[in-house]
Amino acid sequence: DGPTTSEGRRVLLAAPRGYCAGVDRAVVAVEKALELHGSPVYVRKEIVHNKHVVRTLAARGAVFVDETDEVPEGATVVFSAHGVSPAVHAAAAERSLKTIDATCPLVTKVHREAVRFAKDDYDILLVGHEGHEEVEGTAGEAPEHVQLVDGPESVDAVTVRDPEKVVWLSQTTLSVDETMQTVERLKERFPTLQDPPSDDICYATQNRQVAVKKIAPQSDLVVVVGSANSSNSVRLVEVALQHGAKASYRVDHKDELDEAWLEGVRTVGVTSGASVPEILVTDVLAWLAERGFGDVEEVRTASEDLLFSLPRELRADLKAAS
Ligand code: SF4
Repeated sequence: DGPTTSEGRRVLLAAPRGYCAGVDRAVVAVEKALELHGSPVYVRKEIVHNKHVVRTLAARGAVFVDETDEVPEGATVVFSAHGVSPAVHAAAAERSLKTIDATCPLVTKVHREAVRFAKDDYDILLVGHEGHEEVEGTAGEAPEHVQLVDGPESVDAVTVRDPEKVVWLSQTTLSVDETMQTVERLKERFPTLQDPPSDDICYATQNRQVAVKKIAPQSDLVVVVGSANSSNSVRLVEVALQHGAKASYRVDHKDELDEAWLEGVRTVGVTSGASVPEILVTDVLAWLAERGFGDVEEVRTASEDLLFSLPRELRADLKAAS
């Protein structure tokens, strides 16, 4: 493609995009654990929902398992950013595993809310996606009190003991707009439904959705970089389509891009989910540039500077080793 054919073609690059503070902390926790303890370091579930990250850490000696019973007695296991239920902590203790809990502090916050409302004997309506690890961990804090509400269409099936004593909480990585629809319908049924003490949908999820909403109306195509099991990445495709993108696709990496998507396209929006390393976005931009989309404008809707300190157990080990 020469300059004539690329004329008028451009990329709008959403910002913020990519890594959030919780993902960064979880990935660094596994890296530091490997440095300190050597290979293998076991990790329960995918540390974050991104294929590239998991593959890279596996190559460095992390061993990903589904459950703690696959970890040899006494070995070190890292819990993923999505959090675990108390039952998982108990199972690990029973096998004398050394645990490093990389649960994102913003997920832990929702766990604490669940514990608190359960203690006050509330019915807790947890808005989230069935089967997602985070939801399993949060619900596991108070299984007797928590009911999952998987979107607006699940509202009718909800039953509570006392409609005056009901609170909703949520998964951290949902669509903000869809969650509000779910909550509105819940409030039609339970007018005194209590809101969470603060937003459960985290800052990173919200910021990435606001940024994609800004670029979507001007984009013929929005490419979202992220893995299929990454809730917040999948939501970005939905949000792009709902806000005017003519088409939107999610890709794990540049090799999944399809030239046919570019037919008749002038503006390509690009963003990435909270578990996606920037290198994967850089590769997508290079692929687009080779096809005449070298003109990149970053559209920033917020700045992020949040940083979480490493898991407590790891900080103690690092201190002891220094
Ligand atoms: Fe934490 Fe939000 Fe990142 Fe999940 S997406 S790890 S809740 S900051």
